[in-house]
Amino acid sequence: MAKGVWIVAEQRGGALRKVSFEIASAARKLADELGEEVSAVLVGSGVEGLAPELAKYGVDKVYVADNAIYADYTTDAYSAAVAKVVKENDASILLLASSVQGKDLGASLVGKLATGMASDCTELKIAGGKLVAIRPMYAGKVFAEVGIESYPQMATLRPNVFAAVENAKAGAVVKFDAGIPADALKTKVLETQQDASGKIELTEANVIISGGRGMKGTDEYKILEELAGLLGAAVGASRAAVDAGWKPQSDQVGQTGKVVSPNLYIACGISGAIQHLAGMSSSKYIVAINKDAEAPIFAKADYGIVDDLFKVVPELTAAVKKIL
Ligand SMILES: Cc1cc2nc3c(=O)[nH]c(=O)nc-3n(C[C@H](O)[C@H](O)[C@H](O)COP(=O)(O)OP(=O)(O)OC[C@H]3O[C@@H](n4cnc5c(N)ncnc54)[C@H](O)[C@@H]3O)c2cc1C
Repeated sequence: MAKGVWIVAEQRGGALRKVSFEIASAARKLADELGEEVSAVLVGSGVEGLAPELAKYGVDKVYVADNAIYADYTTDAYSAAVAKVVKENDASILLLASSVQGKDLGASLVGKLATGMASDCTELKIAGGKLVAIRPMYAGKVFAEVGIESYPQMATLRPNVFAAVENAKAGAVVKFDAGIPADALKTKVLETQQDASGKIELTEANVIISGGRGMKGTDEYKILEELAGLLGAAVGASRAAVDAGWKPQSDQVGQTGKVVSPNLYIACGISGAIQHLAGMSSSKYIVAINKDAEAPIFAKADYGIVDDLFKVVPELTAAVKKIL
């Protein structure tokens, strides 16, 4: 019988990503309710030493596939390794991050494991011994409760939504070899180009300041960047600003951009179209700065400032400078 709550721990360049601790904590909660163990699959090269970090967040066992062929993420190598160990151990639940890598890996695993998956979940619970995954649909207008009949019951979890809670467990390392000959892999990473700007990744940021059409142009984003620099925030944009060529598509928040869940989201000159809200409405606190008191963003905002952003943002920056 399928048993145990499993996660795929995500690492990049030999460091675990914050979302790995969030999914480990979510898994711990489910496992405690079921009276089962949490196991993590960690795939990479030179990653065995990361196991104790996962143990801190409630992982009982860490299955490690440590091999040079996993130095760079590729769908075929990683999914073959994860599928093998999860299948052999007859996992009941398998959780991944709803990150770029997690979405790609999840889709491949669903095929390899012949099971079902709920993606981009914002809440999980157990009912009748089975997983119930809750996910926003129709741009956040409704929340669907999804049950999966096959095993493992798979779900990807939206980053920054589930709290990372320390809860030390053994984190016993179990090494495994997926037995994949390097020449059997169809893809190979030839080169990796890193964003040299040192920008904070939007999906991992605790604070995001986004600008929309109200910003009026590229140069005007400097006022957001200055405030962001002080707050350690990332700068995002609405699609209108991206379509105008003021910001790159990689900065776009929304239905056709990135889905973010920071602690604080400051929307400047953004009206609050449903497609934008789809990408940020699960933020913990939303602040809207808009000169139109009727803008729909105010219906979602925890705090609203009805005024010209070119007046408000510099005032905010000056106030933050005084505090720091
Ligand atoms: C299929 C589809 C997918 C889409 N995906 C996305 C998506 O991923 N992300 C996204 O953002 N949009 C998306 N859109 C577009 C979306 O519908 C809106 O058109 C877009 O979000 C509007 O961007 P905006 O709020 O910046 O611009 P506007 O709606 O034009 O709003 C600008 C706001 O700025 C305010 N403003 C102007 N000047 C100032 C000032 N000086 N001070 C203060 N406030 C000021 C105005 O009052 C106004 O409310 C999508 C649309 C479709 C059809």
